[in-house]
Amino acid sequence: MASFDVIVVGVGSMGSAACYYLAKKSGVKVLGIEQFSIPHEQGSHAGQSRIIRKAYFEHPDYVPLLERAYHNWRQLESKTGTQLYFPTGLLYAGKSDGVLIQGVKASAKQYNIQVDALSSAESKIKFPQFHIPADFEILFEPDAGLLTPERCILSFTEQAIKAGATIHSQEQLIAWKEEQGSITVTTNKNTYTCTKLILTTGAWTPHVAPEFKKQLTVTRQVLAWAIPQHGDSYTLGKFPCWLIDDAQQPGMYYGFPILQATQLGGLVGLKAAYHYPGQPTDVNQINRTISKTEETELMKSVQHYLPEGFTTIHVSKTCLYTNTPDENFIIDFLPNQRNVIIAAGFSGHGFKFASVVGEVLSELALKGESKLPIGFLSAKRFK
Ligand SMILES: Cc1cc2nc3c(=O)[nH]c(=O)nc-3n(C[C@H](O)[C@H](O)[C@H](O)COP(=O)(O)OP(=O)(O)OC[C@H]3O[C@@H](n4cnc5c(N)ncnc54)[C@H](O)[C@@H]3O)c2cc1C
Repeated sequence: MASFDVIVVGVGSMGSAACYYLAKKSGVKVLGIEQFSIPHEQGSHAGQSRIIRKAYFEHPDYVPLLERAYHNWRQLESKTGTQLYFPTGLLYAGKSDGVLIQGVKASAKQYNIQVDALSSAESKIKFPQFHIPADFEILFEPDAGLLTPERCILSFTEQAIKAGATIHSQEQLIAWKEEQGSITVTTNKNTYTCTKLILTTGAWTPHVAPEFKKQLTVTRQVLAWAIPQHGDSYTLGKFPCWLIDDAQQPGMYYGFPILQATQLGGLVGLKAAYHYPGQPTDVNQINRTISKTEETELMKSVQHYLPEGFTTIHVSKTCLYTNTPDENFIIDFLPNQRNVIIAAGFSGHGFKFASVVGEVLSELALKGESKLPIGFLSAKRFK
């Protein structure tokens, strides 16, 4: 039976980063187990782009973690010689008293993050592609942009292997049990032992750690890539990432510039989606077929803010959020446990943190605590 210091189950966004930070520590024997290929389209990380931003409207407590995440992404870029972060800037718009504008301003003020106020006239000159309602406030965060998730996960995985980690794809965790300080991990292919176990199983977590079933709601999210009338004005360099707090309904619409698929992989077109928990689902039963109505409703709402319109919806896809009741992450030891760690419930906004979450998980596994401020993400808050 092969034996490891740490086994990481789920080599997706958080797990690939954890494998890397663990393997970097000399002498640590690490195994990463992933049930599909690395990366893949069944979970929460596919789709070419993820927004990264620092003036965090969700809560200012995330900002110190974001500072570290930015630092770690840059380190990974210089180690691999691969660009992972594209600084496009981010346009925010919404009612002045809405959660988005209020939250961005609060975090920017508390942590001195550059966020520029744009008048309606200034916004029209800078980004004529948008139609922003006259009663919306507009802000612009220059040091925000996008990450390329597939490249990030591949980079972490490659570097983890280079540093000595063993990574098994197409292998599924079936069960684990702890006896006298040793953990036995059974997969569909083999049995291993380890001292510490990290569960980064995304939308599968309610099955893998059923004690968190009540706190985790998996939802089906729909996103689309469309071809604008004048695609040239939406390309990387000319068009920013954007996030608009819709006044008509809860949640926000967001999108990205058109990325060159030949260079960056992924799909062709302008990507847009709605950030709000969709229909609750089970990861093993999700309906991946998107109806014409879902597609049309999404693009109609997006067109409200990008009025020039689209010639076609090139492709639409589903993706999964794993939501906690307060939409904050869970990073902690399992209840009454010091050897099994869980990182889950990223509630549709976790990717940008993968580089810092990987570091935190390696510290929890190797030292029993993290130097980074993660107290507000403790699972104990639900008791
Ligand atoms: C449409 C959409 C848009 C998003 N936009 C943004 C954004 O702009 N910015 C942002 O920061 N975040 C964004 N997110 C959120 C972000 O992508 C997720 O929070 C993040 O990817 C979650 O990472 P994870 O590691 O928990 O899950 P995943 O990356 O899905 O990884 C979990 C892995 O565990 C594996 N696994 C599960 N069970 C087992 C098992 N039994 N055995 C072996 N392997 C197993 C899975 O196969 C999977 O690879 C978005 C999410 C979606 C769906």
